[in-house]
Amino acid sequence: MTSAKKILVTGGAGFLGSHLCERLLLDGHEVLCADDLSTGSEKNITHLQSSPRFRLLRQDVTLALDVEVDEIYNLACPASPVHYQADPLRTMRTNVIGALNLLELARKCNAVILQTSTSEVYGDPSVHPQLETYWGNVNPIGVRACYDEGKRCAETMFFDYRRQHGVRTKVARLFNTYGPKMRPDDGRVISNFIVQALRGVDLTVYGDGSQTRSFCYVDDMVEALVRMMATSDDVAGPVNLGNPDEFTILELALKTLALTGSLARIAHRPLPDDDPRQRQPNIALAHTLLQGWAPQIPLDDGLRKTIDYFQDTGVK
Ligand code: UDP
Repeated sequence: MTSAKKILVTGGAGFLGSHLCERLLLDGHEVLCADDLSTGSEKNITHLQSSPRFRLLRQDVTLALDVEVDEIYNLACPASPVHYQADPLRTMRTNVIGALNLLELARKCNAVILQTSTSEVYGDPSVHPQLETYWGNVNPIGVRACYDEGKRCAETMFFDYRRQHGVRTKVARLFNTYGPKMRPDDGRVISNFIVQALRGVDLTVYGDGSQTRSFCYVDDMVEALVRMMATSDDVAGPVNLGNPDEFTILELALKTLALTGSLARIAHRPLPDDDPRQRQPNIALAHTLLQGWAPQIPLDDGLRKTIDYFQDTGVK
């Protein structure tokens, strides 16, 4: 049993953050969840608030946080293209100023800090599957740039704080992650398809649906993040985290229809600008560094759990 720590999770009331807070509490830690509740929701953490080891700080990470902690997980930023493009300048500020504030905090407290970066740093990748050594193919002036370039800039600062100030930094690059507690209006593909299938309305496949993604169930991602934080101080990353099983978006739509038993149909919609054609993580490095970590939950099982969640929460 590792000793109990005081841990800050920014974006802790969001989809992934709330699962991470729950896991850290189960492991016996004290958890400070910082969230401005812009896309996160207090509902995601209601069940944690009875714990004396849990506290919600309602705060935006672009404002400096004055807390004393041992570890910081930075998850603060909307991750759905629909949400992060709604206010791109705010997204950039969250990614850049937020990371800067948290790096300063880590420096002050001598805390270990883990950045949840993203597969978006690879842009529309010309190398497939994506390895950490690939520098990416990002449009710096496109509609996704506020997120992609914001996350790239944050990675740069993480490495400069390590080199310049000796801060114990870690960068994980998260690929598409899904599961219970996604918002019905999140806008990402899995929640959209499930909600549409349950409502019996057309599943909106953007483009011809031949673009690919590789989907990781949230429990597998949380396990990887906890293991990444526990690595020795010299492990800086970047480390890809995700499930390498790759599917076309059309396959995902058909799977969702089959698993929900929905009679809904597929309706094609225009492909958004700069939508990556393909995405699949190479997770060999994670496997080596994170004690043999590999995703355990296949897409069908994860989709069933997520469908159950949306059904239980009354999405119709
Ligand atoms: N997509 C889709 N229908 C939707 C939402 C998304 O076909 O209702 C497609 C989108 O164009 C992209 C893929 O699904 O090719 C994954 O999109 P998502 O927004 O989930 O995340 P991304 O990986 O693009 O950040």
